[in-house]
Amino acid sequence: MSGDFEVAVVGAGVVGSGCALALARRGVAVALLEAEAEPGLQASGTNSGILHTGFDSAFGELETDLILRAASLRDPVLETLAVPVVRCGAEMAPRDTGDAASIAAIAANARGNGVAVALRDDGVLEVPGESVTDPVAYTLALCVAAQRHRARLFTGFGVTRIEHGRGSMRVTAASGEAVSARVVVNGAGIGAGAVARMLGDDSFDVYPRKGEFLVFDPPTDGILERILLPVPTPRTKGVLVFPTVDGRIVAGPTAVDLDRPDWSVRPEAREEILPKASRMHPPLADAEPVFAYAGLRPAGRAVNYVIARSRAEPALVNVAAIRSTGLTASLAIAERVVSLVAAAGVPMSSPEALAPGPPPAAEGEPWWRRSADRLAV
Ligand SMILES: Cc1cc2nc3c(=O)[nH]c(=O)nc-3n(C[C@H](O)[C@H](O)[C@H](O)COP(=O)(O)OP(=O)(O)OC[C@H]3O[C@@H](n4cnc5c(N)ncnc54)[C@H](O)[C@@H]3O)c2cc1C
Repeated sequence: MSGDFEVAVVGAGVVGSGCALALARRGVAVALLEAEAEPGLQASGTNSGILHTGFDSAFGELETDLILRAASLRDPVLETLAVPVVRCGAEMAPRDTGDAASIAAIAANARGNGVAVALRDDGVLEVPGESVTDPVAYTLALCVAAQRHRARLFTGFGVTRIEHGRGSMRVTAASGEAVSARVVVNGAGIGAGAVARMLGDDSFDVYPRKGEFLVFDPPTDGILERILLPVPTPRTKGVLVFPTVDGRIVAGPTAVDLDRPDWSVRPEAREEILPKASRMHPPLADAEPVFAYAGLRPAGRAVNYVIARSRAEPALVNVAAIRSTGLTASLAIAERVVSLVAAAGVPMSSPEALAPGPPPAAEGEPWWRRSADRLAV
């Protein structure tokens, strides 16, 4: 047995790392259990890195509430943990006159959510509060901060079994290593359905929805100052074009439903992305991508943002199906998980001041390579 803890958090993505940090700051003994060799390699390290304002999120949904709440928590955390952020804002341009009504509806939605937007005379919607971060640095910063507050990280700890003991659960990895904890927080991303089923909870399932991206060196005649957003469809937000914290331009993502994890970039992704991206940012029409990567959204089947104590096992808190906005909402998700864990009987103190410190050095690798290279198949 590798230790007795009050809470075992399964999965060190941005959600699990955020939960571990919030719990550890309240004096809870936390084990953060990650299957991969490093935290943040899956969805949290292979996304668009955009910190959304919630301007286009559906009013009244839990996801929207948490996006809006996170916006009020984020700035001091970014500053204390020295996480890079480009406060560039975004704009959504109509493709044709038919888009004007959609953009007007999105502007009204933004105002309903209390998010500042401006509709220009040329029909373009400006969203000044949208920003871009380095999602790997963001996730690692939360994870390392959790450890500064005494959480213990176990990597290479792929949970395969969870059993009841007397007043605690025994959480066992494929390697045979085990920890015990009173409460299990399930932040296992695309593995969250499987983790819940280990405790007899089959109330939801999660599948991978792949999103592919192309990375460009900035064309000499094409400085990109803002995130460029397409007018969304009911199924997807579509292909966007955005600047990265390290001065590149990224275009994507696609949306491909899978039945098993596959981080490869399909040959046809280029044709699905490039025409749309160069319509929004014409200098990309002649540009060659320098890299491509894919991320897998942890998409729930007919559910989204499953954040609740399990009905099958009250000592299990699911934080699952955080499909599209988990980077943005992570701090508010963690706040909610703290109250669920407290309701499960784990004692807590008032939060310690966040211990400052930067994320681990990137060793010269841009974020979009760090996870993608390690996950490539
Ligand atoms: C293409 C794409 C674009 C996106 N764009 C954005 C964006 O711009 N802004 C935004 O806010 N969000 C975005 N998202 C969504 C965001 O990435 C996710 O919501 C978020 O990363 C989910 O975090 P997570 O911690 O739940 O999942 P993950 O990051 O996948 O973490 C889950 C972790 O659990 C581990 N794990 C799984 N099973 C086990 C097990 N049995 N034992 C131990 N560990 C296990 C995994 O290895 C993984 O590290 C995007 C996602 C994708 C894929």
